[in-house]
Amino acid sequence: MFTLAIANQKGGVAKTTTAANLADAAAELGAHVLLVDLDQQGNATALTDATARVFDGNAFGKPQQLTVSDALYAAQERAGAPVQAGTVHQVAVPAGQHWSPRLRVAPANQDLAARNGETFPGAAQRLAVGLQEPPGPLDLVVLDCGPSLGGLFLAAMHAADAVVVASEAADNALEGIPRTLEVLAQVRAARGGAAPALLGVLPTALAREARQGELLDFLRSSYPDVLAPVPRRAVVRQAEGAHAPVRAFGAAGREVADVYRQLAEHVLHVAGVRPSEEVS
Ligand code: ADP
Ligand code: MG
Repeated sequence: MFTLAIANQKGGVAKTTTAANLADAAAELGAHVLLVDLDQQGNATALTDATARVFDGNAFGKPQQLTVSDALYAAQERAGAPVQAGTVHQVAVPAGQHWSPRLRVAPANQDLAARNGETFPGAAQRLAVGLQEPPGPLDLVVLDCGPSLGGLFLAAMHAADAVVVASEAADNALEGIPRTLEVLAQVRAARGGAAPALLGVLPTALAREARQGELLDFLRSSYPDVLAPVPRRAVVRQAEGAHAPVRAFGAAGREVADVYRQLAEHVLHVAGVRPSEEVS
Protein backbone atom coordinates (compact mmCIF):
# COMPACT_ATOMS: atom_id res chain seq x y z
CA MET A 1 0.00 0.00 0.00
CA PHE A 2 1.37 3.37 -1.09
CA THR A 3 -0.02 6.66 0.20
CA LEU A 4 0.03 9.82 -1.93
CA ALA A 5 -1.08 13.22 -0.63
CA ILE A 6 -2.37 15.96 -2.95
CA ALA A 7 -1.47 19.18 -1.22
CA ASN A 8 -1.26 22.95 -1.41
CA GLN A 9 -2.04 25.43 1.27
CA LYS A 10 -4.02 27.42 -1.32
CA GLY A 11 -7.64 26.63 -2.14
CA GLY A 12 -9.01 26.43 -5.66
CA VAL A 13 -5.83 25.04 -7.25
CA ALA A 14 -7.43 21.72 -8.33
CA LYS A 15 -6.32 19.54 -5.42
CA THR A 16 -9.68 17.80 -5.18
CA THR A 17 -10.07 17.52 -8.95
CA THR A 18 -6.62 15.94 -9.10
CA ALA A 19 -7.08 13.62 -6.12
CA ALA A 20 -10.39 12.25 -7.40
CA ASN A 21 -9.50 11.91 -11.09
CA LEU A 22 -6.06 10.46 -10.32
CA ALA A 23 -7.56 7.98 -7.84
CA ASP A 24 -10.17 6.97 -10.42
CA ALA A 25 -7.57 6.63 -13.17
CA ALA A 26 -5.39 4.39 -10.98
CA ALA A 27 -8.44 2.27 -10.16
CA GLU A 28 -9.32 2.00 -13.86
CA LEU A 29 -5.76 0.76 -14.45
CA GLY A 30 -6.57 -2.07 -12.07
CA ALA A 31 -5.40 -0.82 -8.68
CA HIS A 32 -7.52 -0.97 -5.54
CA VAL A 33 -7.69 2.66 -4.45
CA LEU A 34 -8.94 4.54 -1.40
CA LEU A 35 -9.56 8.29 -1.66
CA VAL A 36 -9.50 9.98 1.75
CA ASP A 37 -11.30 13.31 2.03
CA LEU A 38 -9.27 15.46 4.44
CA ASP A 39 -11.18 18.70 3.88
CA GLN A 40 -14.08 19.64 6.12
CA GLN A 41 -15.81 21.09 3.02
CA GLY A 42 -16.24 17.51 1.82
CA ASN A 43 -15.61 18.40 -1.82
CA ALA A 44 -14.01 15.06 -2.70
CA THR A 45 -16.93 13.28 -1.05
CA ALA A 46 -19.41 15.30 -3.12
CA LEU A 47 -17.43 14.99 -6.35
CA THR A 48 -17.23 11.20 -6.09
CA ASP A 49 -20.85 10.96 -4.99
CA ALA A 50 -19.85 8.96 -1.93
CA THR A 51 -22.63 8.37 0.59
CA ALA A 52 -21.35 8.11 4.13
CA ARG A 53 -22.81 5.31 6.18
CA VAL A 54 -25.12 6.48 8.93
CA PHE A 55 -24.72 5.41 12.51
CA ASP A 56 -28.07 5.33 14.29
CA GLY A 57 -26.46 6.43 17.51
CA ASN A 58 -27.81 5.53 20.89
CA ALA A 59 -31.37 6.13 22.04
CA PHE A 60 -30.59 9.80 22.61
CA GLY A 61 -28.30 10.57 19.69
CA LYS A 62 -29.29 11.89 16.29
CA PRO A 63 -28.32 9.63 13.40
CA GLN A 64 -24.78 10.52 12.48
CA GLN A 65 -22.70 10.14 9.32
CA LEU A 66 -19.59 8.02 9.73
CA THR A 67 -16.69 10.05 8.37
CA VAL A 68 -12.93 10.52 8.51
CA SER A 69 -13.52 12.64 11.59
CA ASP A 70 -14.92 9.62 13.45
CA ALA A 71 -12.12 7.45 12.13
CA LEU A 72 -9.43 9.79 13.46
CA TYR A 73 -11.18 10.14 16.79
CA ALA A 74 -11.49 6.39 17.09
CA ALA A 75 -7.83 5.89 16.10
CA GLN A 76 -6.85 7.86 19.20
CA GLU A 77 -9.15 10.26 20.98
CA ARG A 78 -6.53 11.95 23.19
CA ALA A 79 -2.92 11.68 24.30
CA GLY A 80 -2.22 8.37 25.99
CA ALA A 81 -5.50 6.76 24.90
CA PRO A 82 -5.13 3.34 23.29
CA VAL A 83 -4.32 3.44 19.58
CA GLN A 84 -6.75 1.65 17.21
CA ALA A 85 -5.41 0.71 13.79
CA GLY A 86 -7.54 0.55 10.65
CA THR A 87 -10.30 2.95 11.63
CA VAL A 88 -10.28 4.83 8.29
CA HIS A 89 -11.23 1.61 6.48
CA GLN A 90 -14.26 1.26 8.72
CA VAL A 91 -15.78 4.49 7.37
CA ALA A 92 -14.88 3.90 3.69
CA VAL A 93 -17.72 3.48 1.18
CA PRO A 94 -17.83 2.83 -2.58
CA ALA A 95 -17.61 5.85 -4.89
CA GLY A 96 -20.76 6.70 -6.90
CA GLN A 97 -21.90 4.97 -10.08
CA HIS A 98 -19.83 7.02 -12.56
CA TRP A 99 -16.56 6.12 -10.85
CA SER A 100 -14.35 3.07 -11.02
CA PRO A 101 -15.72 0.07 -9.11
CA ARG A 102 -12.27 -0.31 -7.52
CA LEU A 103 -12.45 3.17 -5.97
CA ARG A 104 -13.55 3.59 -2.37
CA VAL A 105 -13.89 6.86 -0.49
CA ALA A 106 -13.46 7.78 3.16
CA PRO A 107 -15.93 10.69 3.33
CA ALA A 108 -15.73 13.96 5.22
CA ASN A 109 -18.09 16.65 6.41
CA GLN A 110 -17.77 19.71 8.65
CA ASP A 111 -17.15 17.50 11.71
CA LEU A 112 -13.56 17.31 10.49
CA ALA A 113 -12.90 20.91 11.57
CA ALA A 114 -12.64 19.71 15.17
CA ARG A 115 -9.87 17.25 14.27
CA ASN A 116 -7.84 19.93 12.48
CA GLY A 117 -7.47 21.84 15.74
CA GLU A 118 -6.36 18.90 17.89
CA THR A 119 -2.64 19.01 18.58
CA PHE A 120 -2.10 16.57 21.46
CA PRO A 121 1.05 14.41 21.21
CA GLY A 122 0.19 11.65 18.77
CA ALA A 123 -2.56 13.56 16.95
CA ALA A 124 -0.41 13.88 13.84
CA GLN A 125 0.06 10.09 13.72
CA ARG A 126 -3.65 9.25 13.82
CA LEU A 127 -4.23 9.16 10.09
CA ALA A 128 -1.26 6.84 9.56
CA VAL A 129 -2.60 4.60 12.33
CA GLY A 130 -6.12 4.72 10.91
CA LEU A 131 -4.84 3.60 7.51
CA GLN A 132 -2.99 0.55 8.84
CA GLU A 133 -4.32 -2.97 8.37
CA PRO A 134 -6.71 -2.61 5.43
CA PRO A 135 -9.27 -5.43 5.53
CA GLY A 136 -8.97 -6.20 1.79
CA PRO A 137 -6.62 -5.56 -1.14
CA LEU A 138 -5.46 -1.95 -1.26
CA ASP A 139 -2.71 -0.64 -3.54
CA LEU A 140 -2.99 3.11 -3.34
CA VAL A 141 -4.34 5.66 -0.86
CA VAL A 142 -4.88 9.20 -2.17
CA LEU A 143 -5.22 11.93 0.45
CA ASP A 144 -7.16 15.04 -0.65
CA CYS A 145 -5.79 17.73 1.67
CA GLY A 146 -7.71 20.88 2.54
CA PRO A 147 -6.40 24.42 2.05
CA SER A 148 -4.59 24.70 5.37
CA LEU A 149 -1.30 23.70 6.95
CA GLY A 150 -3.03 22.75 10.21
CA GLY A 151 -3.31 19.48 12.10
CA LEU A 152 -4.87 17.50 9.27
CA PHE A 153 -2.13 18.55 6.89
CA LEU A 154 0.49 17.42 9.40
CA ALA A 155 -1.38 14.14 9.76
CA ALA A 156 -1.35 13.74 5.97
CA MET A 157 2.40 14.40 5.87
CA HIS A 158 2.93 11.76 8.55
CA ALA A 159 0.85 9.22 6.63
CA ALA A 160 2.12 9.93 3.10
CA ASP A 161 4.90 8.16 1.22
CA ALA A 162 4.86 10.90 -1.40
CA VAL A 163 3.26 14.24 -2.14
CA VAL A 164 2.04 15.97 -5.28
CA VAL A 165 1.78 19.73 -4.87
CA ALA A 166 -1.00 20.89 -7.19
CA SER A 167 -0.70 24.48 -8.30
CA GLU A 168 -2.51 26.69 -10.73
CA ALA A 169 -0.08 28.60 -12.90
CA ALA A 170 -1.19 31.95 -11.55
CA ASP A 171 0.98 34.43 -9.68
CA ASN A 172 -1.12 34.33 -6.52
CA ALA A 173 -1.28 30.52 -6.53
CA LEU A 174 2.49 30.01 -6.71
CA GLU A 175 3.04 31.40 -3.21
CA GLY A 176 1.42 28.35 -1.67
CA ILE A 177 4.13 26.02 -2.96
CA PRO A 178 7.14 27.07 -0.83
CA ARG A 179 5.14 27.11 2.41
CA THR A 180 3.68 23.71 1.68
CA LEU A 181 7.16 22.35 0.88
CA GLU A 182 8.57 23.84 4.08
CA VAL A 183 6.13 21.87 6.25
CA LEU A 184 6.74 18.79 4.13
CA ALA A 185 10.48 19.11 4.82
CA GLN A 186 9.88 19.60 8.56
CA VAL A 187 7.79 16.46 8.79
CA ARG A 188 10.30 14.52 6.70
CA ALA A 189 13.00 15.50 9.18
CA ALA A 190 10.76 14.61 12.13
CA ARG A 191 10.08 11.20 10.57
CA GLY A 192 13.81 10.75 10.24
CA GLY A 193 13.84 9.43 6.71
CA ALA A 194 13.04 10.10 3.10
CA ALA A 195 9.26 10.16 3.42
CA PRO A 196 7.24 11.89 2.36
CA ALA A 197 9.05 12.37 -0.94
CA LEU A 198 8.05 15.16 -3.30
CA LEU A 199 6.69 13.31 -6.32
CA GLY A 200 6.40 16.64 -8.08
CA VAL A 201 4.65 19.95 -8.62
CA LEU A 202 1.60 19.57 -10.85
CA PRO A 203 0.60 22.64 -12.85
CA THR A 204 -3.20 22.56 -13.09
CA ALA A 205 -5.85 24.31 -15.15
CA LEU A 206 -3.24 25.59 -17.57
CA ALA A 207 -4.71 28.03 -20.11
CA ARG A 208 -3.29 28.74 -23.53
CA GLU A 209 -2.24 32.36 -22.90
CA ALA A 210 1.41 33.37 -23.19
CA ARG A 211 1.60 34.43 -19.54
CA GLN A 212 0.79 30.86 -18.57
CA GLY A 213 3.82 29.66 -20.50
CA GLU A 214 5.99 32.09 -18.57
CA LEU A 215 4.66 30.83 -15.28
CA LEU A 216 5.25 27.26 -16.37
CA ASP A 217 8.86 28.15 -17.21
CA PHE A 218 9.16 29.74 -13.79
CA LEU A 219 7.90 26.55 -12.13
CA ARG A 220 10.32 24.44 -14.16
CA SER A 221 13.28 26.62 -13.19
CA SER A 222 12.25 26.59 -9.50
CA TYR A 223 11.40 22.94 -8.82
CA PRO A 224 13.18 19.78 -9.94
CA ASP A 225 10.11 17.68 -10.67
CA VAL A 226 7.40 19.53 -12.54
CA LEU A 227 4.84 17.04 -13.79
CA ALA A 228 3.00 17.22 -17.13
CA PRO A 229 0.50 20.10 -16.83
CA VAL A 230 -3.27 19.61 -16.77
CA PRO A 231 -4.95 21.81 -19.40
CA ARG A 232 -7.76 24.17 -18.43
CA ARG A 233 -10.97 22.86 -19.98
CA ALA A 234 -14.62 23.63 -19.32
CA VAL A 235 -15.42 19.93 -19.16
CA VAL A 236 -13.73 19.73 -15.74
CA ARG A 237 -16.40 21.92 -14.16
CA GLN A 238 -19.09 20.06 -16.07
CA ALA A 239 -17.78 16.81 -14.62
CA GLU A 240 -17.76 18.38 -11.17
CA GLY A 241 -21.41 19.35 -11.60
CA ALA A 242 -22.26 15.82 -12.70
CA HIS A 243 -20.32 14.23 -9.78
CA ALA A 244 -18.38 12.26 -12.37
CA PRO A 245 -14.75 11.74 -13.40
CA VAL A 246 -13.61 13.70 -16.46
CA ARG A 247 -13.04 10.41 -18.32
CA ALA A 248 -16.83 9.84 -18.31
CA PHE A 249 -17.14 12.71 -20.80
CA GLY A 250 -15.57 10.83 -23.69
CA ALA A 251 -13.84 12.91 -26.36
CA ALA A 252 -14.58 16.21 -24.58
CA GLY A 253 -12.73 15.02 -21.50
CA ARG A 254 -9.95 13.11 -23.21
CA GLU A 255 -7.13 15.69 -22.99
CA VAL A 256 -7.58 16.12 -19.25
CA ALA A 257 -8.34 12.45 -18.59
CA ASP A 258 -5.17 11.44 -20.49
CA VAL A 259 -2.99 13.64 -18.27
CA TYR A 260 -4.49 12.10 -15.15
CA ARG A 261 -4.15 8.58 -16.57
CA GLN A 262 -0.46 9.16 -17.32
CA LEU A 263 0.04 10.60 -13.86
CA ALA A 264 -1.69 7.53 -12.40
CA GLU A 265 0.67 5.26 -14.39
CA HIS A 266 3.64 7.20 -13.03
CA VAL A 267 2.33 7.01 -9.45
CA LEU A 268 1.69 3.26 -9.70
CA HIS A 269 5.19 2.80 -11.13
CA VAL A 270 6.77 4.79 -8.27
CA ALA A 271 4.59 2.88 -5.82
CA GLY A 272 5.77 -0.43 -7.25
CA VAL A 273 2.18 -1.46 -7.94
CA ARG A 274 1.64 -3.65 -10.99
CA PRO A 275 -2.12 -3.59 -11.10
CA SER A 276 -2.48 -5.43 -14.40
CA GLU A 277 -1.52 -8.60 -12.54
CA GLU A 278 -4.36 -8.11 -10.14
CA VAL A 279 -7.18 -7.44 -12.54
CA SER A 280 -9.39 -10.47 -12.65
P1 ADP B 1 -9.03 22.73 -4.53
O1 ADP B 1 -9.37 21.35 -4.08
O2 ADP B 1 -7.55 22.97 -4.62
O3 ADP B 1 -9.71 23.78 -3.72
P2 ADP B 1 -10.71 22.12 -6.83
O4 ADP B 1 -10.20 20.80 -7.32
O5 ADP B 1 -11.96 22.11 -6.03
O6 ADP B 1 -9.56 22.89 -6.04
O7 ADP B 1 -10.84 23.04 -8.12
C1 ADP B 1 -11.31 24.38 -8.05
C2 ADP B 1 -12.22 24.64 -9.24
O8 ADP B 1 -11.46 24.62 -10.43
C3 ADP B 1 -13.32 23.59 -9.39
O9 ADP B 1 -14.53 24.20 -9.73
C4 ADP B 1 -12.80 22.72 -10.52
O10 ADP B 1 -13.85 22.12 -11.26
C5 ADP B 1 -12.02 23.71 -11.36
N1 ADP B 1 -10.93 23.07 -12.11
C6 ADP B 1 -10.00 22.22 -11.63
N2 ADP B 1 -9.17 21.79 -12.61
C7 ADP B 1 -9.61 22.39 -13.76
C8 ADP B 1 -9.17 22.34 -15.14
N3 ADP B 1 -8.15 21.56 -15.52
N4 ADP B 1 -9.87 23.08 -16.03
C9 ADP B 1 -10.91 23.84 -15.64
N5 ADP B 1 -11.37 23.92 -14.38
C10 ADP B 1 -10.73 23.21 -13.44
MG1 MG C 1 -10.39 20.71 -2.40
